[in-house]
Amino acid sequence: MNAVSSSNAAPEDGTPAAASATGLGPGTRRLTARPAYPAPPQPVAQALPRHSPAVGGLVPFSTVDWPGQLAAVVFIAGCPWRCHYCHNVELQTRAARYDWRETRAFLETRKGLLDAIVFSGGEPLSEPRLPQMIRDVRRMGYRVGLHTAGIYPLRLADVLRHLDWVGLDIKADAEGYDDITGRRDSQRPAHACLAQLLSAGIDFECRITWHPDWLDETRLLALARELARRGVRRFAVQGARRSPDAPPVRALGAPALALLMQWFEEFAYR
Ligand code: SF4
Repeated sequence: MNAVSSSNAAPEDGTPAAASATGLGPGTRRLTARPAYPAPPQPVAQALPRHSPAVGGLVPFSTVDWPGQLAAVVFIAGCPWRCHYCHNVELQTRAARYDWRETRAFLETRKGLLDAIVFSGGEPLSEPRLPQMIRDVRRMGYRVGLHTAGIYPLRLADVLRHLDWVGLDIKADAEGYDDITGRRDSQRPAHACLAQLLSAGIDFECRITWHPDWLDETRLLALARELARRGVRRFAVQGARRSPDAPPVRALGAPALALLMQWFEEFAYR
């Protein structure tokens, strides 16, 4: 989905840590055993049936994929765009690597420990069964977030009322959009999705993965100014990186940062 999604999320193995029942001397305090939470599901060994939801990955615990929420992230494999900076290339092709029934059963065990489930990708709206998956986790009592590049406005309209938060990628200005995505006329659906989010009044963030070779600071600021004018209140600039854990290749200048902080109710530079 975007270059820094889940970059500092913390996968866990779910292995229970129990105190040893032996070898404690007099006066030694016995450690309290932690509850035995089930381990997250593993990738399937054999191909799942064709109609299976294309779950391509799972991060059981993340603090960064929905700012302010403790979330598990379910990654959907499949995306029709080919952004040249994509760090999730293995998620561009549709493939079910995890069994959704096992994933869903695991998420049941995390009730009370997590606030939310975020569907990410790839492009999660490429999955025809996403509406049912959203209903499944809502029934568990979770809040639901969605990362999208804004490729499918009609599918977004179908699920919007069941979402609590959306992170919408803005790839570039009109001039640079198709160069980033590798697809023609790609700004049009993304802006249709933005219009829906604005009129629905849902909580959402626009974010851009930025490098000055793709969009210089002047163009970035013009784009941001236009988003603010249209009513976007939360904006994030994610510095392009060579890998998810590497620092941004180029830093945004202090004057640009000051303007961005001024134009948006919430602005983040990641
Ligand atoms: S829109 Fe698709 S190709 Fe582009 S960064 Fe996201 S997953 Fe990768």
